[in-house]
Amino acid sequence: MTDPRLTAQRLLGAIDWQSEVHGYCACPGTGLHTTRAGKRDCQVHVDGAPTIYCLHASCAGIVAQTNKQLRRELGHAEWELRLPDGRTIRSGDVLRHDGQILPREVVAAKAPDKRAKEQLVMLAEVAKRMAPQIAAKFHWPFEAILADSPLQVAQRDPEDQFRVWLSIWPPTVTVWIGDVFSSGKPEHAAHFRPVPEWREIGPTANYTCGSSFKPGSYRRSNDNINGHRFLVVESDILNRDQVGAVFRFLHQRLQVTCRAIVDTAGKSLHGWFDAPASKANEAKLKALLTALGCDPKLFTFSQPVRLPGAYRDGKLQRLIWKRP
Ligand SMILES: [Zn+2]
Repeated sequence: MTDPRLTAQRLLGAIDWQSEVHGYCACPGTGLHTTRAGKRDCQVHVDGAPTIYCLHASCAGIVAQTNKQLRRELGHAEWELRLPDGRTIRSGDVLRHDGQILPREVVAAKAPDKRAKEQLVMLAEVAKRMAPQIAAKFHWPFEAILADSPLQVAQRDPEDQFRVWLSIWPPTVTVWIGDVFSSGKPEHAAHFRPVPEWREIGPTANYTCGSSFKPGSYRRSNDNINGHRFLVVESDILNRDQVGAVFRFLHQRLQVTCRAIVDTAGKSLHGWFDAPASKANEAKLKALLTALGCDPKLFTFSQPVRLPGAYRDGKLQRLIWKRP
């Protein structure tokens, strides 16, 4: 029985093992990196669906190729490794962050597409193992976000901030603005208006939503969602100086476009991102963001979120970063 780590080393060169199943390696696409590479930017994971993950985006093509090769070579034969505490991990099992072994039968169970499910479980584990590197490499504290904004928006008056934020929407769509309960009855129809009307009215309530709605809606539900969607990323765990690393990682590494960042006047920041176009990418992003400490309810696209330019208990819900 071959040790999967020897197979990985044959393919990737020396590996600095961090556990029985994962370690740092040189990225197979190092030559394509456009920014300086750190020693901890690339990791290989031999459990689950074997995965090489690099924090750079420019090497994605060659990393994907090498990933295929790694999976092919490790897929040839079953293997087993003995952990220091005596337990055994088999090929396809996932060694979870909390030390539990997720058996391959569980990983694959109940999945219409076994391979997609395996890769999702693995992606979440990879994200957890790499979270410290992501936090360090993409570190983007609150003050730096303010200073880096392509449009200087944070000092503008609230009405102006609201209108700048409104410009992320296509002008033809219907947007909901209201309080959490301004939805569900015909009299709530006035909270669903086309963008140009809101431009005239201004920030009259505390909440909005990352999705546009069908014209004539009075209920904020996923059934009424129409066309344009943003993914509003937030975390209850990461503070204002920590969550920026997730925003930058999404923007730079995963190339999900960030449109705006809002200081909610509470503990957290909201990043407004273009929503993933396909269900498959949405599922991947959900697994990844949840593993990094973000709130899974952000994938309910009719979820109310704080409106920039409005006041919360006397404090401004402030637009702090805006793409031109
Ligand atoms: Zn790389």
